[in-house]
Amino acid sequence: MRQYTFLDVHHTYASLKAEMDAAYSDLMASGMYIGGTAVANFEAAFADYCGAKHCVGVGNGLDALVLPLRARGIGPGDEVIVPAHTFIASWLAVAQTGATVVPVDADPKTMNIDLDKVPAAITAKTRAIMPVHLYGAPVPCADLRRLADAHGLMLLEDAAQAHGGEDGNRRAGSLGTAGAFSFYPGKNLGAFGDGGAMVTDDADLADAVRMLGNYGARIKYEHETAGGNSRLDPLQAAFLSVKLRHLDGWTATRRAIAEAYDAALGDVPDLRLPMPSAGTQSAWHLYVVRHPKRDALKEALAACGVQAALHYPHTNHHSGAFADTLGHMSFPVTEEICATCLSLPIGPHMSAQDASEIAHIVDQTVRAL
Ligand SMILES: *Cc1c(COP(=O)(O)O)cnc(C)c1O
Repeated sequence: MRQYTFLDVHHTYASLKAEMDAAYSDLMASGMYIGGTAVANFEAAFADYCGAKHCVGVGNGLDALVLPLRARGIGPGDEVIVPAHTFIASWLAVAQTGATVVPVDADPKTMNIDLDKVPAAITAKTRAIMPVHLYGAPVPCADLRRLADAHGLMLLEDAAQAHGGEDGNRRAGSLGTAGAFSFYPGKNLGAFGDGGAMVTDDADLADAVRMLGNYGARIKYEHETAGGNSRLDPLQAAFLSVKLRHLDGWTATRRAIAEAYDAALGDVPDLRLPMPSAGTQSAWHLYVVRHPKRDALKEALAACGVQAALHYPHTNHHSGAFADTLGHMSFPVTEEICATCLSLPIGPHMSAQDASEIAHIVDQTVRAL
């Protein structure tokens, strides 16, 4: 029986082996194993790709969120508005600064933050709003930007799943004050290890994030503040520069797969398809459907060779990290998504034809449940 794997992070290495191996050899021969031209070249290319003026490479996607919050002096006593439905790292970034997480429930259509509910979440303590472009689907940011500007708030995009996603004619990462990206191997632009970056038009913010990730020093041994160590590894930067040249091609493949699913699954009973916001182009990190008998469907698909996954099976406010402080709250849409979501295979390891075949299996399986 044909197996349809959910994810294949080795595929991009195999398909670009000669370029990757050359990037490795060049970097090793350069003798520059921290910073240097490999990092600077990738930062310049990625800023340009996102349509932002500056890019600062950091150790991972979590730090790409934490450091700009810290750079703006956000900490204990401050509040940051986040979507209730997101990967927990968005919340943990806020918690790491000592600020308070203020979750807003999801929009039942887009599964992203419910934009109508954001204004009521703003208090005198609010310092930032963090839209998360979940599953690669950009949150339209024009209204959020006006709201943030009117209240003097930072608008920090969690774009960890949305490399190349678009809101109008702007790319994810360039829609607010700053955008945070992860290069975790499974992301749309993935390294072969950990990595992350923040992009922004604000030179002072970029400078402060770089300083915070470099032991609080702009100049060696001149430590202005208690910073940490969060730098993009040059070897990963060299690999990422190669992969960035192929990202648009991979995104086009993801879009073709999503279109094939959309076309084939529209009439399947009780199956809800993902619906990115009008005026946006998703980067299709994940293709997440919803079905009331999600667990049975997942198991039945596995028996037919289709690997599906869950993003995410548990709510953040009930997790061990937040249950004590936020477990009493109720986010009905988020709870419904966590109970019914199912991610179908999508990625550059697949073709639109594979998606049509998978869709056929999904259709038959749902009808037999
Ligand atoms: C992956 C991810 C992160 C964290 O990235 P890491 O590189 O794993 O630290 C943050 N937010 C979202 C939405 C993510 O998907």
